Amino acid sequence: MSALVLDGKALAAKTEQELSARVEALKAGSNGQTPILATILVGDDPASATYVKMKGNACARVGMESVKVEMSSDTTTEQLLAKIDELNNNSNVHGILLQHPVPEQIDERACFDAIALEKDVDGVTCLGFGRMSMGEEAYGCATPKGIMRLLEAYEIDLNGKHAVVVGRSPILGKPMAMMMLGANATVTICHSRTQNLADHIKQADIVVGAVGRPEFIKAEWIKDGAVVVDAGYHPGGVGDIELAPLTDRVAAYTPVPGGVGPMTINTLIYQTVDSGEKAISGQ
Ligand code: NAP
Repeated sequence: MSALVLDGKALAAKTEQELSARVEALKAGSNGQTPILATILVGDDPASATYVKMKGNACARVGMESVKVEMSSDTTTEQLLAKIDELNNNSNVHGILLQHPVPEQIDERACFDAIALEKDVDGVTCLGFGRMSMGEEAYGCATPKGIMRLLEAYEIDLNGKHAVVVGRSPILGKPMAMMMLGANATVTICHSRTQNLADHIKQADIVVGAVGRPEFIKAEWIKDGAVVVDAGYHPGGVGDIELAPLTDRVAAYTPVPGGVGPMTINTLIYQTVDSGEKAISGQ
């Protein structure tokens, strides 16, 4: 039997239509105000510039505005903190995206944490992570939150299931694990020091690959009927999981590309629209 394809591209497109309608309604009721996302790009890394551009384009597609802040590669922590402070205090800005990674002389964690909680639409602050982990209101970190939205849209039930998350980065594995725990999964987190990785993965009802190495998680480690979520994307169109041999023996999987990837930017704009609605119309 062929597996259910968790189609992030289709869900993102459908969500954009819904977001366009919400932005239109907000404009109509507020003399043309739209949610506004401020993107901050520090330095001249071409990949980061592309990501920031894609985020601006996604805002435009749903009728939202974005403000592009570009800072030179010799920017100091203090200068970046001052810029974030300015955006925090600008009531016309509803979301702030600081593109990762910033140049190495900058204290990235301090800068992420300077973003006001209500504008942390990319879910990168420690405060937001802590609140989310405690089941309190906060925007989720965009990639894992996008994965949760995708699983929910396809009615994948996590309740009581064993989820194995491979990777523990601050933007992916760690928040992913806390979100799955919040959805009542039993969660195992694996990382580079984990022993007998294959044995852990063999126990999983749901496997999340967030390792950053092409096809590192082997198909033979994954049990029949599992749900497979692959956050990776590498040249050649492969992810972190060896997917091809799995498509007719797992219950569901995210394709690469077109699974997790489109949900990340979609979640960023979804959360910015929410923040804009709260600020503009007090919803
Ligand atoms: P990262 O910061 O490099 O973290 C990689 C994680 O994998 C670390 O926790 C590391 O463990 C773990 N790891 C490394 N080698 C391992 C091994 N041999 N066995 C088990 N675990 C191992 O990467 P990331 O930012 O979380 O990204 C992970 C993947 O998701 C990448 O493929 C990236 O391209 C992708 N990604 C996609 C999106 C999207 O929008 N689709 C967004 C972000 C990332 P330690 O902590 O012990 O070092």
